[in-house]
Amino acid sequence: MTKTPASELLIGAHTSAAGGAHNALLQGKEIGATTIQFFTSNQKRWQGKPIGQEEIALWNEAVKKTGIQTVMSHDSYLINLGSPNEEGLHKSRNAFKEEIKRCHALNVTYLNFHPGAALDGSLEQCLETIVKSLKHLEPEINKGKTRILLETTAGQGSSVGHRFEHLAYIIEHLHKHIPIGVCIDTCHIFSAGYDIRTKQGWENTVKEFDQVIGIKHLHALHVNDSLKPFGARKDRHAQLGLGEIGPECFKAMMEHPDLRELPKYLETPEPDQWKREIQMLRDYA
Ligand SMILES: [Zn+2]
Ligand SMILES: [Zn+2]
Repeated sequence: MTKTPASELLIGAHTSAAGGAHNALLQGKEIGATTIQFFTSNQKRWQGKPIGQEEIALWNEAVKKTGIQTVMSHDSYLINLGSPNEEGLHKSRNAFKEEIKRCHALNVTYLNFHPGAALDGSLEQCLETIVKSLKHLEPEINKGKTRILLETTAGQGSSVGHRFEHLAYIIEHLHKHIPIGVCIDTCHIFSAGYDIRTKQGWENTVKEFDQVIGIKHLHALHVNDSLKPFGARKDRHAQLGLGEIGPECFKAMMEHPDLRELPKYLETPEPDQWKREIQMLRDYA
């Protein structure tokens, strides 16, 4: 495979879509991003507005102006496609359907989502319900080109997706029906017990991912350091190199042949540091 020049590697951050989705692209350009992640609606509300014609026009104009073509959307935090509660599940499926429609309207490359939480149900039941939810949404998903990505979780509370086996189960049941894949969050997998602090650590983790899920299903990474120690199963992000993971991880990630070329998104806590953090990752590559 030919190596992409560091300046062209797809690296960005979760930028702000306040005042319209196109603003997330413009902010991306300012911080030296070549890809961005954003919310297509208020992430803390059930009800999202559909994307209007005017917003689509502004978006397309900003895509041209910034040259940012590959983009990721993050779904609402309220959605739980594995909910054991009938009302919660119904609301989640409807809200996810709206997420998909908004992604299609903007021709979004990836829709990243947290797989789900078992709440008072079992882990197995939760995984089965997630598969059912996505099968139910299959016609909507296949109306556009957006690939949906399961995000690895830290395993906080009853959330599933903190073991590669959970994601493998979902992918196995769905990958022949819908465009689906995985987004690794470095903070989350570290917190869930995958040690990626060193080059050797990454080697082992990528090998395990390949054996359990298959490396071809890995499409993107969320790049965050962790405030909480290894195995804590807590989702608290830190600036790159300043948390419990440390700088060696991010250098090894940018040098790893299976990871170097994948789109990467910062969700680190200081937006005014994103420009520097993006440049740091390019320098490592
Ligand atoms: Zn993430
Ligand atoms: Zn997180």
